[in-house]
Amino acid sequence: MPRIYEVLRKKILAPRIKEMDVYVPQIAKSAKPGQFVIVIPDEKGERTPLTLVDWNRDEGWVRLVFLEVGVSTMKLGMKEPGSTLYYVAGPLGNPTHVEKFGTVVVIGGGVAIAAAYPIARAFKEVSNHVISVIGARSANLLIYEELMRSVSDELHITTDDGSKGMKGFTSDALVALLNKGLKPNLVWMVGPAPMMKACSEVTKKYRIKAIASLNPIMVCGMGMCGACRVKVGGKIRFTCYEGPEFDANEVDWDELIFRLKMYQKEELEALKLFLSKYGLGGDTHA
Ligand SMILES: Cc1cc2nc3c(=O)[nH]c(=O)nc-3n(C[C@H](O)[C@H](O)[C@H](O)COP(=O)(O)OP(=O)(O)OC[C@H]3O[C@@H](n4cnc5c(N)ncnc54)[C@H](O)[C@@H]3O)c2cc1C
Repeated sequence: MPRIYEVLRKKILAPRIKEMDVYVPQIAKSAKPGQFVIVIPDEKGERTPLTLVDWNRDEGWVRLVFLEVGVSTMKLGMKEPGSTLYYVAGPLGNPTHVEKFGTVVVIGGGVAIAAAYPIARAFKEVSNHVISVIGARSANLLIYEELMRSVSDELHITTDDGSKGMKGFTSDALVALLNKGLKPNLVWMVGPAPMMKACSEVTKKYRIKAIASLNPIMVCGMGMCGACRVKVGGKIRFTCYEGPEFDANEVDWDELIFRLKMYQKEELEALKLFLSKYGLGGDTHA
């Protein structure tokens, strides 16, 4: 019998992108598409929000996919199967509203392609026509291609450098689909804030209902600290308990992008200290 918070499996999907199954039966039991957990990797670790990518209620595990960007995600990436995480809280956030809309375009960018997977699967399960658009900087960073294909009626791939699929951004692929006459009933998106901003500019222009799963800096995850506040339709909303999904056409993207960079100096300092402690140097990517 695994121990609570035990890492059952770990897989490297791409450079700095890892997939991890963690034993948390009480979370697996009630997990729904669109929700997330807050992970604390070790006793000195920070609270790190990560989307529930998959789960197995019988075996009691949840699957997380994360990009190593700073100290907490690197600490998590160093955990090996058989070791335990310090704490996992969840499931948090509101589940995705899933119903038969008709044609749904699901867009995932970068590491968040994995977060788009349970959503595309849920839309498909209730008989939507699911058109997925996934994008990465380069072919070697593209994850979950076959899984996304397995839950989509159509799959479109973009890479910034053109090494796979269409050269360009997911927003370019969306424009190309709309120019060919596609009339989606819903566009659902998750990925880096600039990507979602670009996609929402398209959905706004074409007057398409659009939902974005937001990823602001988040600390408590329970609506108390206010770190994850975002502006939607001119009103302050807390991503952790009112989201993480909001009307993409109403999100103040510039404010979200600004707030994501607020602690960059401190994060970089922490990362340098962490890397020097472990004798790791070189490219910090921060
Ligand atoms: C609801 C939610 C779900 C998320 N799901 C996932 C997921 O499934 N997989 C995944 O890899 N990441 C996910 N994130 C982002 C993830 O939580 C952050 O990347 C992580 O907390 C960074 O912690 P760190 O200590 O490793 O890096 P830090 O040292 O805190 O930051 C390093 C760099 O990452 C940037 N950063 C910090 N926090 C975020 C953030 N929330 N989003 C984007 N960039 C950030 C900083 O600006 C900085 O440039 C999610 C965020 C939210 C709010």
